[in-house]
Amino acid sequence: MDPGSNLRDVLTYNPLIISDIPHYHLSMACNHCLEPPCEEQCPAKAIRKDPESGIVIIDDTLCIGCTYCSWVCPYGAPEFDISEGIMKKCDLCHERISSGFRPACETVCPTGALQTQLIDPETVEQKVPFFPETGISPAISIEKPGRPSASKQQYINTYPEEILKSYSSGPDVKVVDVSLKREWTLFMFTLLISVLGAVFGGNFLAGKNIDPVIFGVSAISGIVISLIHLGKKSRSFRIIRNFSNSWISRESVFFALFLSFSFLSLSGKLNPFSGIAGMITIYLTAFSADMIYSRSAGARMELFHSAQITLTLSFFLCYITGFITGFIILSVIKVSLYLRRKVSYGFGSSIQILLTLFRIIAGLAIPSVLILLTGAGGIIIPILLLAGEMTDRGEFYYEFDILSPRDVMNNYFNRELLK
Ligand code: SF4
Ligand code: SF4
Repeated sequence: MDPGSNLRDVLTYNPLIISDIPHYHLSMACNHCLEPPCEEQCPAKAIRKDPESGIVIIDDTLCIGCTYCSWVCPYGAPEFDISEGIMKKCDLCHERISSGFRPACETVCPTGALQTQLIDPETVEQKVPFFPETGISPAISIEKPGRPSASKQQYINTYPEEILKSYSSGPDVKVVDVSLKREWTLFMFTLLISVLGAVFGGNFLAGKNIDPVIFGVSAISGIVISLIHLGKKSRSFRIIRNFSNSWISRESVFFALFLSFSFLSLSGKLNPFSGIAGMITIYLTAFSADMIYSRSAGARMELFHSAQITLTLSFFLCYITGFITGFIILSVIKVSLYLRRKVSYGFGSSIQILLTLFRIIAGLAIPSVLILLTGAGGIIIPILLLAGEMTDRGEFYYEFDILSPRDVMNNYFNRELLK
């Protein structure tokens, strides 16, 4: 493991020990869920649940380092090991257990607070008052929360207002950091799906052939960009192993099929079958990619939002085919969904407000007016449309949250503090 990484983390509720609010510590690692979402969604089938012990284990030799298990785990348990390029998490020292020893954390815990035992899932009850409801078993049980110290009023009297505010209204602490800087390859890839699909579909429906060289270079760029994201690129072929459950596997398979049908279609073979099949598979790729985001743990992002890849693909397709009515309808839908997202997440700083204005005015309103007045020709309209979509998708990564128990506890505590 990388230095500084911890597969077990101690979370503290009410770190200021204010007596009006319960105070406790929670030692957290992988909870070896009854039906682990990480196992279900791992595209490489690198995660398995031992049928006898129930322990959930990542196989180091199969993991491709896509990091998606950390997106779907509601406990923030898997950690990416940069030096090895794979995911790591607590495996309850299963090798020690199978040799008759107890897990290492249990043997060194001085108070005996950590104990492993086989439990009956039917009898487990969630007893931590502020522990986030994940809907996943097992729940955590804590018997003795709370110990007195300074009261909330004493604390408020002691600290300047600005410190209180910075503590109680600060941004979420994210264990899983999904940001544009970190996920720029996904940003590029998802945008490419929309552009490539719309260009292919538009030309196919118009009965034209696009330049196979330009299309081929774009498609290969898409494959390379998607591979950069993986910690273990040499194992990338494993990404399709879990087609029956994983949206990442489905996205990869559908994208590969789209490329195959596209090249058949571009070379003039199997037309129109390959053209129709190409369009169906690019839509399935876009939908699978959207599902990857909406299935993430604690994701507040709804399936339908303005930067949704399926919607953007349709939007570009309407523009390229010159279907003006469809383009205007989708513009209105996009601006409504965008404003709904903004109202829900807040308009943010002055730079974010400028981006919002740019997205709506330059990315949607001006192109719509230009199209209505002058038709869909020229280079200005596609540049503005693309810039608008890039802004929207970039903001999407900024607003996309994967909430961990630490975030939920902090948020809950902040609300308690301000009551
Ligand atoms: S979802 Fe998270 S807590 Fe549950 S088994 Fe997977 S890694 Fe562990
Ligand atoms: S990083 Fe990807 S491949 Fe590795 S265990 Fe997690 S989901 Fe599976």
